[in-house]
Amino acid sequence: MGKRTKMQQGQQDKKYRQLCDDLARIASTLSGEDQKTVEEAADIIYDYTGAVEMTARLVNQYETAAEPTRRGGGIFYCPSCCRRISANNEHCHWCGKLLEW
Ligand SMILES: [Zn+2]
Repeated sequence: MGKRTKMQQGQQDKKYRQLCDDLARIASTLSGEDQKTVEEAADIIYDYTGAVEMTARLVNQYETAAEPTRRGGGIFYCPSCCRRISANNEHCHWCGKLLEW
């Protein structure tokens, strides 16, 4: 788990749980036998598109590792938000980016 705080982990878990709930609701609606209006169908597709985009963002931020930038001495910067980070942290403590050392 590295040095990531419990609070950050909790916030990320909450986002994932919310996303899973949303996807489950969408899937359940799409597979249901209820007749939907065109407007309702459009809303579902819009929600789905948003959920897919959010998933891609979250995966890129929290699950796709990137190498920290090093600028002289032992000073490192986050490859995502460019803020100073401590060496060997698993995630940036500013933005949550997964780091690969
Ligand atoms: Zn960062």
